[in-house]
Amino acid sequence: MSEKILRLSQIVGQATAVKILQAALPPSLPGSGYLFAGPAGLGKMSSAMAWAQAMFCVSRQGHDACGHCGPCLKIANGSHPDLLILAPTVKSKKVKQDIDIDSVRGLIERLAYKPYEAERKIAIIEDADKMNLHAANAFLKTLEEPSGDTIAILTASNPSRLPATILSRCRIVRFTPAPLGEMVDYLTRKLGIDEKRARTIAVMSKGAVGASDPERLKEDIELRAMALEFIADAKRAPTAKYFKQARAMDKEKNRETVDKFLSMILSLLREMAVMKFTGKYDNVVNVDIIEGLDKAGRGYSGRGILGLASAVEELMAARSLHVNPFLTVSLLLLEFRKD
Ligand SMILES: [Zn+2]
Repeated sequence: MSEKILRLSQIVGQATAVKILQAALPPSLPGSGYLFAGPAGLGKMSSAMAWAQAMFCVSRQGHDACGHCGPCLKIANGSHPDLLILAPTVKSKKVKQDIDIDSVRGLIERLAYKPYEAERKIAIIEDADKMNLHAANAFLKTLEEPSGDTIAILTASNPSRLPATILSRCRIVRFTPAPLGEMVDYLTRKLGIDEKRARTIAVMSKGAVGASDPERLKEDIELRAMALEFIADAKRAPTAKYFKQARAMDKEKNRETVDKFLSMILSLLREMAVMKFTGKYDNVVNVDIIEGLDKAGRGYSGRGILGLASAVEELMAARSLHVNPFLTVSLLLLEFRKD
């Protein structure tokens, strides 16, 4: 079980956050309220667990948990009595229920006891931005009147949903997309993925380790390749090829696909426009396909690319009015063949 928990030094791409957390380990005095803020998949929860482990570890090595002592193993097994975790109930695959006032009250009650084993208790509220207003207000008192032996860690991907009163009581630790190089390193070393593919996965996961599962990104990667091919070949390739594609997307289960396809085309066009107008390549997000982008861009003028980008935006707006995918792709093809 213990290998499931990462140690602070194993968190990928969050050097700044990890440094802040390590600096607050005893003998330093940690604050009483922390908010781990940043998009999903960046390792906020793993970092909270790793920090708790480092905090409770009885044979800490430098600024990290040992991973083997009693408290470390208890955290890994989910059985440490001084670590309390509150998270939204997962309703279905994507929908998480709000955290209600009763569960927050339950947590507060448990926080009223002295720590059992450690010097302090740690309460983690995962997706704290899912607390409804009553729940948030109930928890505010805990932050306003810290007992001295409790650390509250809130994680949130939308911190602006939290009341300002909560935000002002927390030290904010920001989680930002991992640098490309670190993601590639992680994917090649830890997962044994070859470098070319690792770069693609790093780009497509937007620097989020939690979103870097190659299987789950497969569809997006294919769709981006299709979008690039469309931009490069739309003028020349036989129309029938696209009608076939369009028909495939028209099937009920693929309706989302056409929207994704359009937004991929749009983002690639925007990158091509920037490359064309500035002659600079250093801010390109899709670095792993930069040669393909450059090559595809040669078939269009800068102005032409901008025109296409706004045509795609119009089609995206039309999609929200339920214009069907087949018609959408057909219109898209016409736009690309205009000039
Ligand atoms: Zn330990």
